[in-house]
Amino acid sequence: MKAKRKEKIKKDVKKLIKEFKNRLTSDLNEVEIILLKEIYLDKILNLLTKIITQKNCLSISDLKSNFSIVDVFSQLFPDTQLRKSSNKFYCLCPFHQETNPSFFLYPETNTFYCFGCQVGGDVIELVKKALNCNFEQAIKYLTGGKDEYKRKS
Ligand SMILES: [Zn+2]
Repeated sequence: MKAKRKEKIKKDVKKLIKEFKNRLTSDLNEVEIILLKEIYLDKILNLLTKIITQKNCLSISDLKSNFSIVDVFSQLFPDTQLRKSSNKFYCLCPFHQETNPSFFLYPETNTFYCFGCQVGGDVIELVKKALNCNFEQAIKYLTGGKDEYKRKS
């Protein structure tokens, strides 16, 4: 990797640390601090990964926003009919038996939630739940190793 590029990344890391410090104010509650830490740790580790491996890897937050919850759902459950209602989609929950749809996909936040069995989360959670796999396998699925983790029907 070119030295110039490395310098640029180091600068970006410093900028992120400064930004994190500025946003870490005393009026934040515990949950907000945890979320803030997660966001910045993810961004910083992503930049450091670029320096060390010279690979342009996606960060977890990039990964989550790059994959549409609706597309991922449709791929995992091709036989499930999704219906649209204003800004959300709904269907019968694939994770529990039901006759009235209580499973919702929210494209705006890229999340899902079932009011029947109370499962929900982001795209990674959806893959984990659908394939009954762990975090690492869910990432592999999303980034290309799809066949290996196909949902058992
Ligand atoms: Zn459910």
